[in-house]
Amino acid sequence: MKTKLTLLYVEDEDGIRNQLSRFLKYFSTTIYTATNGKKGLELYKKHLPDIVISDIKMPIMNGIEMVKAIKEINQKQHIIFTTAHSESNYFMDAIDMQVDGYILKPIDLKKLEQKLKQIQELINLKKDYIKYQKELEYKAYTDNLTQIYNRRYFEDILDKEIKKYQIEKTPLSLILFDIDKFKNFNDTYGHQIGDEILKTLAKIIKENIKDIGTFARWGGEEFACILPNIKIDKAKELAKHLRNIIEKHIFINNLQVTCSFGVAEFCKNDVKRTIIKRTDDALYRAKKNGRNRVETE
Ligand code: GH3
Ligand code: MG
Ligand code: MG
Ligand code: MG
Repeated sequence: MKTKLTLLYVEDEDGIRNQLSRFLKYFSTTIYTATNGKKGLELYKKHLPDIVISDIKMPIMNGIEMVKAIKEINQKQHIIFTTAHSESNYFMDAIDMQVDGYILKPIDLKKLEQKLKQIQELINLKKDYIKYQKELEYKAYTDNLTQIYNRRYFEDILDKEIKKYQIEKTPLSLILFDIDKFKNFNDTYGHQIGDEILKTLAKIIKENIKDIGTFARWGGEEFACILPNIKIDKAKELAKHLRNIIEKHIFINNLQVTCSFGVAEFCKNDVKRTIIKRTDDALYRAKKNGRNRVETE
C-alpha cells in the first residue's frame, strides 16, 4: 500500500534513477527526484520531504555535502544513502553522519523496502506520540464540564503576562465574575440544569473574549479573564458588556441568571497574589452592593 510519506530521491545516473523511482512509486504517492546534491537541496528546502534517499558520488554537490546542509536544517531528518563499493572513501565520510541506513549498489530492493518501512513506523510512532502529548496537554489545561481553560492554565498564562508586564510595562487587567445565588438556583432547578447553565454561559463568554484575552473557569460558578494590553476603564466596559449579555440570555427551560463582576488593573507593585486579591475584593463588593453589577478596585 502506498504511504502518504513524501520522498526525495537524488541520483546522478539516469538508468538507476529511473528504475528506482519506478520502484519507489509503489511505496509513496509523492516523490521528488534530482540529479545532483545542489538540485536535491533546493527541492528539500521547498518540500521538506519525510525521507531523503541519496547517492553519494554526484557532480556539482555530492550526497555528503547535501546531507550536511540538510542536517543543518533538520538534525533529525531521515536519510538513506545508496552507494557503490567503489566509492568506499566517500562511504567512510557517510558513516560519520547520523543517517538511517546505507544501501549498497546494485540496490537490493527488498532491503530498501525494509528500511523504508522501518522509517515509516518510526515516523508513525512519533506522530502518535505528539498526538498523545497534545491530548495530555489539552486535558491538563481544560475544565471537564465546560471545556474551556481551567484554573491551572489561567495561572500559567497570568504568570507569563505578569513577566511580560515587568519587561514591557504594557497594561494588564483581570476580571473575575461569579453567578449570583447559584446555590438557590441548583436547589430550585436541580444540579443538572445548573451544569447546563455553566456550559452555555462558558460558551457564550468564550465567544466574546476569544480575540481579547484568556477566559477560564476559576472554579465552581466562578470565571476569570486575563486581558493583556487593556487598562481598567476598558476592562470595566468589557465587564459591563458581559454582564449585559448574561442578563439578557435565555438559557435552557427559559431560565435566566445574572453575574457579579470584579475588575482590577495590574500595578507596578503587584504580584499574582495581590492582583487576584484586589479583583476578588471588587467582586465581593459587587455582591455586597446588590449583585448583577460591576465593581472596580
Ligand atoms: P452568591 O451570589 O453569593 O455567589 O451566591 P451563590 O449561591 O452563587 O454562592 P455560594 O458560594 O453560596 O454557592 C455556590 C453554588 O455554586 C453552590 C454550588 O452548588 C454551585 N456550583 C459550583 N460548582 C458547580 C457545578 O459544577 N455545577 C453546578 N450545577 N453547580 C455548581
Ligand atoms: Mg553517483
Ligand atoms: Mg455565586
Ligand atoms: Mg462563588
